[in-house]
Amino acid sequence: MSSLYKMPITKLKMVGAKKAELFHKLGADTVGELLRIYPRDYEDWSRVLSIAQAAGGSVCCVRATVECRYTPARIRGNMVLYKVSVTDGEDHMTVTLFNQRYLYEGLQDGEEYLFRGAVKQNYNGYEMASPVIGTAENTRIRPVYSQTGTLTSRQIEQAMLRAVSLLPEQINDPIPEGIREKYGLCSLGEAIRNIHFPRDWESADRARNRLVFEELLVFQLGITRLGSSRRKGEAEHIEQDYSDEFMERLPFTLTNAQQRTIRECVEDMRSLPYPMNRLVQGDVGSGKTAVAAAVCDTAVRNGLQCAFMAPTEILAEQHFESLSCLFEGTGVRLALLTGSTPAAARRSALQRLETGLVDILIGTHALITDQVMFRNLGLVVTDEQHRFGVAQRAALVSKGKSPHVMVMSATPIPRTLALMIFGDLDLSVLDELPPGRQKVDTYLTDSGKRQRIYRFIRQHIRDGRQCYIVCPLVEKSDSGLVSAEEYAEKLRSTELGDCRIAVLHGKLQASEKERIMASFSAGELDILIATTVIEVGINVPNATIMLIENAERFGLSQLHQLRGRVGRGKEKSYCIMISDAENPVSQERLRVMCRTNDGFKIADEDLRLRGPGDFFGARQHGLPELKTAALSDMLSMDVTREAVQEILTADPELSLPEHRALRFEVQRLFTGSGLETTA
Ligand code: ADP
Ligand code: MG
Repeated sequence: MSSLYKMPITKLKMVGAKKAELFHKLGADTVGELLRIYPRDYEDWSRVLSIAQAAGGSVCCVRATVECRYTPARIRGNMVLYKVSVTDGEDHMTVTLFNQRYLYEGLQDGEEYLFRGAVKQNYNGYEMASPVIGTAENTRIRPVYSQTGTLTSRQIEQAMLRAVSLLPEQINDPIPEGIREKYGLCSLGEAIRNIHFPRDWESADRARNRLVFEELLVFQLGITRLGSSRRKGEAEHIEQDYSDEFMERLPFTLTNAQQRTIRECVEDMRSLPYPMNRLVQGDVGSGKTAVAAAVCDTAVRNGLQCAFMAPTEILAEQHFESLSCLFEGTGVRLALLTGSTPAAARRSALQRLETGLVDILIGTHALITDQVMFRNLGLVVTDEQHRFGVAQRAALVSKGKSPHVMVMSATPIPRTLALMIFGDLDLSVLDELPPGRQKVDTYLTDSGKRQRIYRFIRQHIRDGRQCYIVCPLVEKSDSGLVSAEEYAEKLRSTELGDCRIAVLHGKLQASEKERIMASFSAGELDILIATTVIEVGINVPNATIMLIENAERFGLSQLHQLRGRVGRGKEKSYCIMISDAENPVSQERLRVMCRTNDGFKIADEDLRLRGPGDFFGARQHGLPELKTAALSDMLSMDVTREAVQEILTADPELSLPEHRALRFEVQRLFTGSGLETTA
């Protein structure tokens, strides 16, 4: 297999430079990578029925000969209707194609084809509308691939056929033979052939089982090895716990969950033989910043420097301000470093940092650039961790000898899943909100009620409140989705037209974003129309309404994050979701939001409704994406865990020749996401 990972995809017939570009988007630059893109579904072309047998409305495959092609008919506007009469020797059937001239012209009179579609019977006889057409002899189970851009599933299938034919007879199998035997798994070659072009349903199943096993095995091996390399370093010891003093200085009493988390972190730093590596998970508003500040405080008082990294400049600045308040008068020295820090301030900050005159450096990715050098980095805190790749975090960690690491996340991952994902990362959960927080009243409605909603918003703005409106897209598009810019224009002619409105989205220059956020924060704007850039951490207590357009386009956890932007002050807050989606699953998902404000419940529900694809997918955690594994498979993680133990006990470095292919796959999976393992 490894030789195919070196063979560029253009080696396949019919794949030129232009197509290769499309395959690149799919993640396949080489033949080997292509083979690892699995079908998302199958079509059964193996059961061929007669026209009469197929009649009944469900999708079937019919073999029939073209008798005649009728003259195309133009129906309303640009629509052209093509009709073809076909027969299976017994019955006749009319095949209709809409606007598909190339298909129509491709059919030869007197030739036999397979037509796949639903056969309906009416007064005209049998009819099949918009079938998929295949050659007559191509009776097999055919793969369906997720389409990307203009590359169709069919084109991928064609390339895949050629790729599969290049598979060598003998393939180095990542799963060692002993383990394959023990768990009854088929070989890699067989699995690859059958996942794409299964002989029958049973072999498709066998292929999938094996590939899921392999995927989980490789995933767990990678995670376990990362974990063990992490546990090697010598910890920077913390002698004394100063957190009680810190808490006394705070203007509020910490929740029990906050206190417990701080204790857990300090305890890690004091007594573990290796550095702390803890994930602090807390719903929006659970007070993660104060926890981080307390932990930094103890680290600083024990003579260590801290780095505090946030995913956006706005957030970094907010943290800088919050921490400046919390540390006022304590002598703890802070500095801020982002992409837009002016050169002079930057130079000075870097110099002070290197000489140890800065205790806590707060900033964005700018913290991981080469020029940033600490004198004695002992604690790395990253906020909203799902925005960072594991590699970025590792880059920051490498600026110290072996600093303690604290990762804060507001993405509530169900605990069981978190443990699977993060392996032996320790976990603290802030499962309690500070007292006096009000529940955000949440409503789901459709665009018919927009006028009423605007009146409602108007009222609140008159009372001095502010409002967020979130749209899924930045610019105009023809997808029927509301874009932020278009929306702003439209709003001008409504009763919100005379409000002070600004548009915020990810494509703006950082400085422009800052400016807009700052003026919204200062109350100089009434309405902020935004894409999801405001999802993370923004804190404007006077904003009390969150209106979300095309709400069905957002994941539940994302909606929950968005909602977390309101309900941050004393005033009653509202979240209004507008959706015209008719799909009952979408409606059910959105209704979950109205029922609960508990991020963990929402995450569980999201997981139940959509499967874990989202938790693993979208590179949320900087962890590799699993292709075949589904929720039910996660439960079989226990089985693979056993295999992982077996392999690592025998060969901790994966250096034996029989583990070469496995080591290769671990590397491939993890470097794909920018992650380095020593494997
Ligand atoms: P998040 O967990 O979403 O990052 P923050 O750390 O931004 O939450 O905290 C949200 C707000 O709650 C801040 O204004 C913070 O000062 C306040 N806060 C944090 N902890 C407490 C507490 N125990 N009691 C009252 N207010 C608190
Ligand atoms: Mg926060």
